[in-house]
Amino acid sequence: MKYCPNCGNQVDPKAVICPHCGIPLPSSSSFSTPATTTGDTGSAWWGVLGFFVPVAGLVLYIVWHNSEPKNAKSAGIGALIQVGVSIAFFIFCFFIILAADLSD
Ligand SMILES: [Zn+2]
Repeated sequence: MKYCPNCGNQVDPKAVICPHCGIPLPSSSSFSTPATTTGDTGSAWWGVLGFFVPVAGLVLYIVWHNSEPKNAKSAGIGALIQVGVSIAFFIFCFFIILAADLSD
């Protein structure tokens, strides 16, 4: 079911004109969920990208810093988490090696 963007009444999903107020309706039934492919949505997917490709996350953060701050923050946080995890893993390995050395 979709709703008229003008008067808010329920209309038939296949209707092209609102039967209540008469304005033309978007042909797509998905107009109630705005497209997320463009715009500064701060999507978590940019964080996922930043996590798996920290360099891309960092570049996106720099490029978007002014134009799309939410997306930039999301990508930057993903990259930061990855860097943090890498450092934690490095320190973990360091102590494992150290412990193995001391036990000799
Ligand atoms: Zn209407």
